[in-house]
Amino acid sequence: MTKIFLEDEPGLEISLRKNSNSRRISLRISALDGKITLTGPSYLSFEEFKNFAESKKSWLKSKRGSFQHPIFVSEGIKIPILGFETKVSFSNVQKPKKIGNVLYVSKRQSVSNQVKNYLLEICRFHLNYICAEFSKKLGSKFYKITLRDTRSRWGSCSNDANLMFSWRLVMAPEDILAYVAAHEVAHLKHMNHSKEFWETVEFIFGPYKKEKAWLKQNGPSLHRYKFES
Ligand SMILES: [Zn+2]
Repeated sequence: MTKIFLEDEPGLEISLRKNSNSRRISLRISALDGKITLTGPSYLSFEEFKNFAESKKSWLKSKRGSFQHPIFVSEGIKIPILGFETKVSFSNVQKPKKIGNVLYVSKRQSVSNQVKNYLLEICRFHLNYICAEFSKKLGSKFYKITLRDTRSRWGSCSNDANLMFSWRLVMAPEDILAYVAAHEVAHLKHMNHSKEFWETVEFIFGPYKKEKAWLKQNGPSLHRYKFES
């Protein structure tokens, strides 16, 4: 896909998507990760698209301000683990080890992979425990928990009672992780978002409005941490 970079604003990367069906130029910012896409008729020239984007620069900058810059996970950065800022630091360790607010990783392997594996492990540990508790309380069993790096949803529950979660949730405070767990466990009983469903969430988790709002507001920022694939 063609990229447009604005004058003096190299941080604002815009993906250009020409579409023969479109009649006008439109500029969109993804609420998930702040990615900017410019769509417009294919007969327009690159210059015309670029001029359009330039004319919207201040709007883009203010909009984009609500999305923080990506953080490439490497030595020295800080990453939240269960809501606590944790510094990634080198040490003579075999596998990642967290002491206080420092996560020690080895110099000899990819830092990003080590941090990611650590997050997966902690996430699995917590979700196993929390989901087991909630499902016991609800009296509905689940089969297995799968962790993924999903973009559009934080969790899901299948018809055959398998639960899926985004492992990025382990960066959020623990009650947020627990709320999403309660939400998916409640789907074991109600495969919808009916009044009964939300009552079930409240029954197993307690009042959840604060956590739901946190996720809506701060969830996208969990996607700013970039790991090597
Ligand atoms: Zn749901």
